[in-house]
Amino acid sequence: MRSIFLSILLFLSAVSPLCAAGSKIKILTTTEDLRSIAEYIGGDRVAADSLARGYQDPHYLEAKPSFMMKAKNADLFMRVGLELEIGYEELIIDGSRNARIRVGQPGHLDVSEGVNLLEVPTTTKIDRSMGDVHPMGNPHYWLDPENVKIMARNIANRLSELSPENAGYFQENLAAFDKKMDEKMIEWRSKLAPFKGRKIAIYHRSWPYFADRFGLVAACELEPKPGIPPSPGHLKEVIDIMKRDKINVILMEVFYDEKPAEFVAGQTGAKVIVVPNSVGGTKEAKDYFSLMDTVVDKLAEGLKG
Ligand SMILES: [Zn+2]
Repeated sequence: MRSIFLSILLFLSAVSPLCAAGSKIKILTTTEDLRSIAEYIGGDRVAADSLARGYQDPHYLEAKPSFMMKAKNADLFMRVGLELEIGYEELIIDGSRNARIRVGQPGHLDVSEGVNLLEVPTTTKIDRSMGDVHPMGNPHYWLDPENVKIMARNIANRLSELSPENAGYFQENLAAFDKKMDEKMIEWRSKLAPFKGRKIAIYHRSWPYFADRFGLVAACELEPKPGIPPSPGHLKEVIDIMKRDKINVILMEVFYDEKPAEFVAGQTGAKVIVVPNSVGGTKEAKDYFSLMDTVVDKLAEGLKG
């Protein structure tokens, strides 16, 4: 009798609440990109949701009570990090009263760990006059597919820690994800190969990672400083640079005002290419792969002209 009791006890202690039969790991991510990657890795063992929609500016999200309610039940909270979510993450986690997803807990994952960063400021003096500069580096690293492989590995490792009995499943999904990414990279590279070294204008510095990976140069941006809307004086400088360097494309995100870009296009003859910079930014960008398909195809089309 005693041994039966003991074995039941041992069994119960081995089964964490996360993996009780039929229950999925509840993941809440800040962006839809993270949700998409988490769904590939977590498969049917997770239920993932995101706070921001891909057509929203992820820098500025309102810490709504409904977000706190979502966070309340999450087993794992994921952020892009590098202060992208600094305006709302803490408010949402605090408001959720869910101690498991606090920074530093196993239920909190900063997906940026180990990714290759660009634009890490070399000066320690960062003030508001510089605009919305991120002191840890440019946070838009998910637009480099090679970084996404690192993000996927981070997610697979954390899910494996939270649910060790599913570790093999998560690692298998990671291997499949990597394989698909490598195949797609060949396709994306070949589509953009004819334009190697070409300069493009961008609206916000969302695109340096993407440009770097595919051999393009993000030469100037419509924002005078990150997060600061274009001013007439700055646009004049942009027009001069674009004329001088024969830049014929302005690449911009779906959630910014298109009027300044149309104005510059009118002065330079360049084309405005509006693309999602996150999963969910447009109907076509259903997951990370179709997001990149959309960006690569539209940009290649624009650069051709
Ligand atoms: Zn930004």
